Amino acid sequence: MYFIANWKMFGSLNSLNSLHKVVNFFKSFKKKKLVKIIYCPPSTLIRPMSKKLKNTNIIVGAQNCHEHENYGAFTGSINSNMLKNVGAKYIIIGHSENRQFGETNKLINLKIKSALKSGLKVIFCIGETLKEKRKKNTKQVLNKQISLGLNKVKNKNKVIIAYEPVWSIGSGLIPKSNDLFDTINFIKTKIRNSKVLYGGSVNPKNIIELKSINNIDGFLIGGASQDPKKFIDIIKKTYN
Ligand code: PEP
Repeated sequence: MYFIANWKMFGSLNSLNSLHKVVNFFKSFKKKKLVKIIYCPPSTLIRPMSKKLKNTNIIVGAQNCHEHENYGAFTGSINSNMLKNVGAKYIIIGHSENRQFGETNKLINLKIKSALKSGLKVIFCIGETLKEKRKKNTKQVLNKQISLGLNKVKNKNKVIIAYEPVWSIGSGLIPKSNDLFDTINFIKTKIRNSKVLYGGSVNPKNIIELKSINNIDGFLIGGASQDPKKFIDIIKKTYN
């Protein structure tokens, strides 16, 4: 199971001090062979976090990139090669917080290709809005996001899908278990052999319900991942 921490635009050098709790927990965790932990901090923290997590089994990832993998005159942007160079092994692409500000399926597709070319593994976020859910368009939306996002992507085995309903991110709401099982299954029929994670308001309470949905391969955790105790609790309770 994957447990991916998305720190979003939170975190200073001081925040890295909280990592030792997770490192110590993971060192002695009996089920650690079943677990992959990936921390995706803001780009400013990738290098220092990678140094701090050296010689642990915890991996570092990035949260987004520019679509060009080469250097260029793109003020304020960072490309996938640069992220790899400072220690990222994975990258989140297509997060709804970026789609909301104009990131299209086409742009996401370019970013995915560029990240794979740079040797990063991709955590590809998809998910429907509340309006789309109410109109019963969830599967149609996901299908489009998958087919356009992964158009002509060769190394699909290096892409993990994170199903994140937009209405569940940061809202405290999670999908009904039956619906979630069904949606994850649908995604798995569209992109075979890929791991499919769930993300959206995962916390130490609702993990009990979420872990019983047996086709989920892990969780992308936003808010709760900034608190090492909550993050550790989520992992522990998944295996209780
Ligand atoms: C996310 O940002 O990917 C996310 C799932 O956030 P949260 O857990 O806070 O809903």
